[in-house]
Amino acid sequence: MHHFTYKNGVLHAEDVAVADIAASVGTPFYCYSTATLTRHYQVLEQAFANQDALICYAMKANSNQAVLKTLAKLGAGMDVVSEGELRRARAAGVTADKIIFAGVGKTRAEMAYALSEGILGFNVESLPELHALSDVATELRKQAPVSIRVNPDVDAKTHEKISTGKSENKFGVPYADAVNIYAEAASLPGIDVAGIHMHIGSQITDLMPYRDAFRVLRELVVELRAAGHKLRHLDIGGGLGVPYDSANDVPPHPDEYAAVVQEALGALDLKIVMEPGRVIAGNAGILVSRVLYWKVGAERTFTIVDASMTELLRPTLYEAYQEVWPEREALKVETPVLQDVVGPVCESGDYLAKGRELPPFSEGDLLAVMTAGAYGAVMASTYNSRLLVPEVMVSGDKFAVVRPRPSYEELIAQDVLPDWL
Ligand SMILES: *Cc1c(COP(=O)(O)O)cnc(C)c1O
Repeated sequence: MHHFTYKNGVLHAEDVAVADIAASVGTPFYCYSTATLTRHYQVLEQAFANQDALICYAMKANSNQAVLKTLAKLGAGMDVVSEGELRRARAAGVTADKIIFAGVGKTRAEMAYALSEGILGFNVESLPELHALSDVATELRKQAPVSIRVNPDVDAKTHEKISTGKSENKFGVPYADAVNIYAEAASLPGIDVAGIHMHIGSQITDLMPYRDAFRVLRELVVELRAAGHKLRHLDIGGGLGVPYDSANDVPPHPDEYAAVVQEALGALDLKIVMEPGRVIAGNAGILVSRVLYWKVGAERTFTIVDASMTELLRPTLYEAYQEVWPEREALKVETPVLQDVVGPVCESGDYLAKGRELPPFSEGDLLAVMTAGAYGAVMASTYNSRLLVPEVMVSGDKFAVVRPRPSYEELIAQDVLPDWL
């Protein structure tokens, strides 16, 4: 469910006409819906209302300060993967005791900063990282609360670039080594064994991989308790999918997901920490772009638009499918044309939609790439010296630019000439 709908024949974000934003901000731009963000957070929160659970929004999905502040005000914690994200979360008003620090390559400087802030926990992904954290914590005379990320070796049945829980992935420690690594963790100074972490992948649309992973998690809790570890929380990761193709994708409802968690882990009497990203932000954003040219090629028809892989990398990076909606509803009933929607960037891989039956667009039309709120703006670049894409947030009948489009002067001024030139 989201709040991007047609009213009076034109696409609206909540109560604001998308064309009005385009007229004021220019194109391309991202547009986020406060009501949708809020709803997604609250549906998840309600699903876990009868469990001791903390939602740590995986802010790598969308880390705009306005998005973070909206979620922080609802009580969300955050899952961060860098010092930059930790600073962004703190700037948005998230208290450190609701922040989990994940990622395979934390530097010592990042560890020290997170320890000085007093975060809820570190998700540690290797033995060398555990030793580094022990050193840093000892030096600072702190105790680092730690969960070891255990790789359950299950297939999340998702795209290979977003699958993380198989033994060939770089993430976590092998299940078979977990008991030994926990023993070592408990013996290290500065390390406080607090929980277990698992995250099997992203855009998961089937509950079975979760069931398999949670069974492994439960067995590990029993083993670790028998070995004398006093665990406080279980971090079950994120990964719940969203309907990129609303006619065919049917991801599980958060209620069903919560029921699987309750059934598998409820009896363990541990706090559940989760790190959803996409399911909160994905459907809460669209990328709005204007059609530049309608080009009938030898074998294909191309709609050339002013957005590209520099604004939205997902189609190029993951062969991702995202719906494309015309801004004018009338175009939806015209006979569709098989086409590619492509951007101006000098790469064959620069496309937003490929081989799709879409309306016959004309120059000047606006269109929206749907479900672009997660892993969209955060991956934007300035390749081809394009200006970083602006972001807009809507709330009811109001909108605000929450990241302005830079000027060309600002773009060029980022470079500094050496004194010999
Ligand atoms: C990316 C990531 C998430 C969030 O994944 P979503 O699919 O966006 O929910 C959660 N935990 C970890 C460790 C991640 O790397």
